[in-house]
Amino acid sequence: MNLVLLGGPGSGKGTQADRIQNEFAVVHISTGKLFRANIKNVTELGSSAKAYMDKGDLVPDEITIGMVRERMMEPDTASGVLFDGFPRTITQAEALDDLMGGLDREITRVLYLSVSDEEIVRRLSGRLICRECESPFHKEFNPFHSCPYSKCEGEHLYQRDDDKPETVRARLRVFQEQTAPLIDYYTSQGKLVKVSGEGGVDEVFESVRNVLEGD
Ligand code: AMP
Repeated sequence: MNLVLLGGPGSGKGTQADRIQNEFAVVHISTGKLFRANIKNVTELGSSAKAYMDKGDLVPDEITIGMVRERMMEPDTASGVLFDGFPRTITQAEALDDLMGGLDREITRVLYLSVSDEEIVRRLSGRLICRECESPFHKEFNPFHSCPYSKCEGEHLYQRDDDKPETVRARLRVFQEQTAPLIDYYTSQGKLVKVSGEGGVDEVFESVRNVLEGD
């Protein structure tokens, strides 16, 4: 199983990805998480990415694709992968097809989590992320009860800089212009299934599970 989770900012990709990797044999690869880890560790890659991320823009394709290529060389990816937040442009999708082809593998399913813009703004304004494990929570809809890795008591939660309303608007624009064309790209490959991401976390996961168990 090699999956792509497609959806706008705040569509619940990270939350669903956590659930999917707990139940299916896939390794979660989030390019956003990889960039944030690089920023935290003050790497060269992190400092190149930060300026774009702070504005809500996409990090250039060459940087992003290079980072994913490197990650795919690690042995844990062999059993199956779940891409979250990648690809975000047609160039990235084509590069991913090439990369997977070179490994004699292919993307088997693309789940498109569809959520309205109003709901996205509502969700992101209350989103909290754990600085240590990057798990996403929400002040109202998904409050912190316990750490999924049993490592903390919620003391590391923070609001991401790019979840500020003006940056969220920029990210929504970027999604429409650069990422939404991937819906047609993967539909024409016969891989895309649209899942409503508007319900609660459990409800959305039920729909996701139904699709994956049917594959
Ligand atoms: P995310 O955590 O997926 O919301 O990503 C946060 C930010 O990281 C995005 O707004 C982009 O600036 C950057 N980013 C993450 N994934 C990609 C990607 N595939 N291509 C370009 N930029 C990305």
